[in-house]
Amino acid sequence: MDFLPIFTQLQQQPVLVVGGGPVALRKIQLLLAAGAKITVLAPSICAEVEALAGEQLNCLYQRFGQHEIAGYKLIIAATDKPAVNAEIYQAAQAANIWINAVDDPEHGNFIFPAIVDRSPIVVAISSGGNAPVLARRIREKVEQLLPQSISLMGQFAARCRDQVKAALPTIDQRRDFWERWFSGPAQQLIASGRQQATEQLFQQQLADFSPNQGEVYIVGAGPGDPELLTIKAMQYMQQADVIVHDGLVSDDILALARRDAERISVAKQAGFHSLPQDEINALLVKLAQAGQRVCRLKGGDPFIYGRGGEECEALAAADIRYYVVPGVTAAAGCAAYAGIPLTHRDYAQTVQLVTGHCRANGDEPDWASLAKARQTLVVYMGLINSTTLTEQLISHGRDANTPVAIVENGTRPEQRSVTGTLEQLPALINQHQLSSPALIIIGEVVALASNLQWFHTVAAKHSTTEAA
Ligand code: SAH
Repeated sequence: MDFLPIFTQLQQQPVLVVGGGPVALRKIQLLLAAGAKITVLAPSICAEVEALAGEQLNCLYQRFGQHEIAGYKLIIAATDKPAVNAEIYQAAQAANIWINAVDDPEHGNFIFPAIVDRSPIVVAISSGGNAPVLARRIREKVEQLLPQSISLMGQFAARCRDQVKAALPTIDQRRDFWERWFSGPAQQLIASGRQQATEQLFQQQLADFSPNQGEVYIVGAGPGDPELLTIKAMQYMQQADVIVHDGLVSDDILALARRDAERISVAKQAGFHSLPQDEINALLVKLAQAGQRVCRLKGGDPFIYGRGGEECEALAAADIRYYVVPGVTAAAGCAAYAGIPLTHRDYAQTVQLVTGHCRANGDEPDWASLAKARQTLVVYMGLINSTTLTEQLISHGRDANTPVAIVENGTRPEQRSVTGTLEQLPALINQHQLSSPALIIIGEVVALASNLQWFHTVAAKHSTTEAA
């Protein structure tokens, strides 16, 4: 570690800023926010800095060297002249004062990190001056993860800390209480400024608190690309004690879950079937009843061919609190990454999502409706029954030349997208040995892909992408 991150208390502490231009201004604003007493030293000082003069800030129209530096806690060299920075650096070193030269790391011994300020929560990020752009990008990600209301949450917690301490005797109970508080609806209430409702909810949760209260987060993990996760999904993955996941959830995504969370796969594993749905339901109930916070992580969206509805029913019947987080469903993910707009003013006003995998005793699909022209049909789990699908659609009137795409491993680096016509569908699957997970898209819009394809994967270079 080249630099040790520390947070310093600068209230009323004397700080010298050498330089009076826009670069100095940015640092002055930060120092003012931290309550420092600032002296700005420069032969000429810009109007924006002058406008800040007052009790906290004093302007001295002098060159460096004409002013005594002893007594300052920090010095900021914000001149654009390396020779002057060098002079300031030497003087500061000799006087044992911390010095930062803006954009000139050689003439300084501390640096300003990129910060996310949600006071009292402050996050500092640094690349040690090596990759400021990377640090800034990380800051943007952290900013997205920390909503503005985090600041209000922090203030609320500070006000109520003593009350929680008095009500709950052990550290474990208090931690558990706060974890639930921060993950529940409080954040939305606080963000929307509903103070009275927040206070009521708080008092109620404190009164109702009982240790070992489990809960379940039913979370859509999207089709594969980890960056398609929602911020909420990430939060619940970080918070859960146990992750119960499907085979569709990629390792890259699982790697983002809390490191010490237990992971339980309910997927098909070599030679074994996946856990039947009622056993998954029972497992969720059992874990929550044992006091665990369970993240039920599912591919795509939990409510689109994800059986999330059945899991909610089981949890509701057992009176277990649950939350549902939507995810990018395969239709949206695969279509976007294959360059196929599912609707288009000129080609399709309607999209139908269907499954190729009906219940054994299930009703026949409404083929006449599925075979209509100028609509897009997206078939989940459609590989196995593709021959029936093709025959039925054509016999119910869909043009045999309707463009189709099969997108395998959509949104992942190994995505393959194969296109052709409806009558070729079973042959395409066979010929290219396409396997699950794969999505079939049927409709006039598929023809746009040859123009609109933008996602180039390593695999695509060798792939079998064909024009319709
Ligand atoms: N709940 C999920 C769907 C689960 S059903 C969702 O909303 O996406 C499983 C089917 O989804 C697979 O058989 C396949 O048809 C489709 N699927 C899921 N992820 C996919 C991916 N990355 N690429 C292609 N198809 C995918």
